Amino acid sequence: MNISSFHTHTRLCKHATGEPVDYVRQAAVEGCSALGISDHCPYPDPTWAGSRMTVADVPEYLQLVARARETAPFPVYWGFECEWHPGYESWYRDYLRHELGAEYLVYGSHWVSENGEFLYIPEYPGRDRLIRYANMTVEGIQSGLYDYIAHPDIFLAGYPHLDETVLSVCREIISAAVAAGLPMEINGLGLSRQPIAGDGGSRAPYPVREFWEMAAEAGAIIICNSDAHRPEDVLKPARNARRFAEEAGLSVQDPADVLSFVRDNAVRR
Ligand SMILES: [Zn+2]
Ligand SMILES: [Zn+2]
Repeated sequence: MNISSFHTHTRLCKHATGEPVDYVRQAAVEGCSALGISDHCPYPDPTWAGSRMTVADVPEYLQLVARARETAPFPVYWGFECEWHPGYESWYRDYLRHELGAEYLVYGSHWVSENGEFLYIPEYPGRDRLIRYANMTVEGIQSGLYDYIAHPDIFLAGYPHLDETVLSVCREIISAAVAAGLPMEINGLGLSRQPIAGDGGSRAPYPVREFWEMAAEAGAIIICNSDAHRPEDVLKPARNARRFAEEAGLSVQDPADVLSFVRDNAVRR
């Protein structure tokens, strides 16, 4: 069976190691069928400056991807992992996608906006805040900017009790993604994180089985990715995510089969 991953970082984001060529080399050893490089995108201002590349890094990013492509025995795609905020819509659409020509954009909804600040949702509990996070996430899904949503259940890392509010937020995010036809990612990296105490005992902070059962029930397109921040993690976490899905009885698809930019690209070639 094919194994691809479309969630891969590089040293340019300042919290990952390795260059695209290192990820490609490891992926080739592990029988990769396609790889997407999706480092955290630059911003036109100091937002999240500590955990992403800068605009000045972009030419190097493109060079690193181009070099990796030359060495890869499988197709390599490139894009960015982005947040959503209406203030950056043109940045994502006009700059990242059109000017730079990013082949794909990943929606990673990590933050909730509050008093002009962006807070990492798992570290900030609170019902009103979670509802604001859900509204923003649904808006991002509906923006039409993105090719898939990464770890749509990441907020559950900070919301261990699946009460009615939390469950309704799960439902809203899932139904928005299903309505938009946006593939949802089971994130392999989360499985390697320190477990937390959930309703049914110890569990990974994300992915969360109950969320994915709801997603499957709603007819979501489910894919598995690594979210690699080290070359040795290029595919292993994606395989772990597949195992998680299998154990939960979920059917998943290979990302390369459902991401439309991959199909368009294949037609162009
Ligand atoms: Zn990261
Ligand atoms: Zn990521």
